[in-house]
Amino acid sequence: MARVQSSAVRDLLKYSKMPGMISLAGGIPAPDLFDTEGLHEALAAALAPDAAGAFQYGLTEGEAALREQIAQLLQQRGIEAAADGILVTSGSQQGLDLAARVLLNPGDTVLVERPSYLAALQAFALAEADIVSVPSDEQGIDVDWIEAYVSRHPVKAVYVVPNFGNPGGRTLSLARRQQLVRLAARTGTYLIEDDPYGELRLSGSPVASIQALAAGTPAQARTLYLSSFSKILSPGLRVGWMVLPPALFEQAALAKQAIDLHSCSLSQRLIGAYLAAGRLAPRLAVLRDAYRQRRDALVSALRRHLGTAIAFHEPEGGMFLWARFAPEVDAARVLKAARDAGVIFVPGAAFFAAAPEHNTLRLSYSTIDEARAEVGAIRLAKALRHAGGGMLHAAAD
Ligand code: PMP
Repeated sequence: MARVQSSAVRDLLKYSKMPGMISLAGGIPAPDLFDTEGLHEALAAALAPDAAGAFQYGLTEGEAALREQIAQLLQQRGIEAAADGILVTSGSQQGLDLAARVLLNPGDTVLVERPSYLAALQAFALAEADIVSVPSDEQGIDVDWIEAYVSRHPVKAVYVVPNFGNPGGRTLSLARRQQLVRLAARTGTYLIEDDPYGELRLSGSPVASIQALAAGTPAQARTLYLSSFSKILSPGLRVGWMVLPPALFEQAALAKQAIDLHSCSLSQRLIGAYLAAGRLAPRLAVLRDAYRQRRDALVSALRRHLGTAIAFHEPEGGMFLWARFAPEVDAARVLKAARDAGVIFVPGAAFFAAAPEHNTLRLSYSTIDEARAEVGAIRLAKALRHAGGGMLHAAAD
């Protein structure tokens, strides 16, 4: 436990509840975009045929019907996976825990991008892995760097969020995905592909998943794919899944037995009924439209009110905008002033496994509208002027 850091995001929650506060800190899906009507209907439909079954213990691997439906969903993502290679998990967070348990012995090295998803770092730290962070740029994690590292050190696994990662918001390029697949085939290094946001593409064109690129190559036996209904339907239902090579599937199912026996039967049946009603595709269209508007609102408000005092690349999807102030500005200090001004964000330092970059920050646009984006950016500019020592002059005037 001594290695595991508390999440800076959770610690910020109490401020987000203060009246009038504009929170760009949360990473949560927008509650106003939940398809509550569809979920209600799906709940009724899930209970109608066999209510007792929905309240009963279920299979560790997951509800058979849902695993078939997930296989179909994956097909639309270009991934051919048999239903019996899909393990239903309690959120993709459990997928990360299971991946860590089946792959990592204490002292094994796992490579992660800089910056990286915090709770993945926590899962790997609990497995007592050595976490090595890899530089990344706008194309995602630097695979040349990984090639050089792997030639000198044993590496058990590489963890990537290839689509609009949390917090980086970047898309891993096709060339680098292919390079990772070749590396796994050649060296036996495992690839953990975490893809909760892929369906939330807001602009640009989809890029093939690592799982799809690895199919039919020796890398297939080394590739784990994790995803979730959290960002596209409801995080509270706690249903995700993982696609595992057969040798690892058995072990992961065994570990899951010991952890929680199985994921919630009612949630799984509810989601099964929702998918069977054909509601996911139209809902995804609603989500994409809304998140695109919110992203565009935040991007233009930041450009208008902070100008060159903040640098970022527009994310092609997901919920996060990763940004940096000038190198000498400490985002944690700006946060203190920002709280007083009525806006919060997550300082980026928490997302680095080592050597944090203190001038970085994560901004989430999932729960804001145009008016709040505008006021949030004005307040952020004020906070930066206050804490950042006049950095804003060039930009705000
Ligand atoms: N991976 C990433 C990159 C995430 O951002 C999240 C949620 N914040 C998860 C996994 C876990 O999501 P869940 O367990 O709700 O599926």
